[in-house]
Amino acid sequence: MTIENTLGLENTYASNLDGLFAPIDPAGFPHPELLLLNRSLATELGLAPDWLEAYGAALLSGSDVADGTRPIAQAYAGHQFGQFNPQLGDGRALLLGEVVDPRGRRFDLQLKGAGRTPFSRQGDGRAALDSALREYVVSEAMHALGVPTTRALAVVATGETVMRQRAAPGAVLTRVAASHIRIGTLEYFAARRDTDKLRRLIDYTLQRHYPDRTDTDNSARALLEAVAAAQGRLIARWMHIGFVHGVMNTDNVTLSGETIDYGPCAFMEAFDPNTVFSGIDQHGRYAYGNQPDIGAWNLARMAEALIELLAEESEAAIEIAKGALEIYGRTINAAWFEGMRAKLGLAEEREGDPELIQELLDWMKDNQADYTSTFRKLSVSLTDAAPAFDAPGFVAWDQKWRDRLGDTPLASVAQAMDAVNPLYIPRNHKVEEALDAALQGDLAPTRTLLEVVSQPFVAQPGRDTFAAPAPDAFGPYQTHCNT
Ligand code: AMP
Ligand code: MG
Repeated sequence: MTIENTLGLENTYASNLDGLFAPIDPAGFPHPELLLLNRSLATELGLAPDWLEAYGAALLSGSDVADGTRPIAQAYAGHQFGQFNPQLGDGRALLLGEVVDPRGRRFDLQLKGAGRTPFSRQGDGRAALDSALREYVVSEAMHALGVPTTRALAVVATGETVMRQRAAPGAVLTRVAASHIRIGTLEYFAARRDTDKLRRLIDYTLQRHYPDRTDTDNSARALLEAVAAAQGRLIARWMHIGFVHGVMNTDNVTLSGETIDYGPCAFMEAFDPNTVFSGIDQHGRYAYGNQPDIGAWNLARMAEALIELLAEESEAAIEIAKGALEIYGRTINAAWFEGMRAKLGLAEEREGDPELIQELLDWMKDNQADYTSTFRKLSVSLTDAAPAFDAPGFVAWDQKWRDRLGDTPLASVAQAMDAVNPLYIPRNHKVEEALDAALQGDLAPTRTLLEVVSQPFVAQPGRDTFAAPAPDAFGPYQTHCNT
């Protein structure tokens, strides 16, 4: 019995899409060590956590690849900060195969940081421990917050040292995703005018992610419209929780509608649409408040990649593309309002709600209110009967809000609000604190942080500091892409 047979991995991508990837024979590492295993995710996937704990280090670092598996690196292109790069691809990741969970859902198992591939360009194919842990913590937090996302199954230390901002231990992250197919994957074949591969990729993706839309004679259109809706729902969720992705390049936009690439992301504290964390995003292209527009821009690139397959006549194709962008706009708007109403405990939609929401956001911006905790303070204030903030501008808004809530029992409104407004997010200073300790060999703060953010809506005794914004001494926060 081989190890992978024990995992029961399949490989429909490799078997169906010849020419869309490069086979990889990973070099592996002599002394891999399993640092973190997501036991509950393993169980969900139908993988045995005890077995992984005992034997997983070699398998989940690419150090042991049994006969019969076909690790591959996927080809993709992408628009990075607006510029098209025709040749990206998995430069430090390999797709080990696909797991089908007990409910029949198919997931990619991808090893990130397992070594160089034909797509590595100048990169070393490695990942640093802190960046692997960062992705683990933030993606698991996103999942707990109810946001579609790739997930983290494990982090394995490779025993090597990698050179980044600082020298760091090398690590491999096992990422679990509905798939790793991106807008950039389509762009790769469109740029090469390889219509045959483009068509095969579209059909495969539609079948895998949107099987209820396969009854069509226009797969390209069906896929574009499905992705437009999925991205609209996704980005609305980011906005609700103050998430700044930081690198919304088209190679980081999945066709499944899951959040992917946790390089420079961070959560906003003081509410400000101009919030940017990534050190290389100097013009604020991917600022918090720009994310909905960038989502549309990225979908326009997807439409361009598919344009010749959308319709025979170019005018008709352009109309279909415009229609897909309208679907995106309608979806993100409706999802955003619905979520914002829920954050304020407004069960059904009423005239004046958009203004009420906007007035609160304006006040928050003018007063640098912490985005996450403000909504929790609002729910507490309902049962306290006093406004959450004792500021003249706020008190007027508070009265309007209470009038709008009318005679709904306030305790039940507060309860409904607490179910959608997180108490805990991965606060930037807490993440940095945990990663610093991990680089010193102490994983305890990372484990604690993971526990906290995995139950974001439930008050955890003794963990008040995880709910508070960074102290002033932490200063402005900047994240890095080179991880
Ligand atoms: P990202 O900024 O993570 O979206 O990555 C953009 C591209 O750079 C992708 O093709 C990655 O595979 C590649 N890449 C990032 N880091 C490395 C690395 N250390 N070695 C090789 N390729 C990398
Ligand atoms: Mg990426």
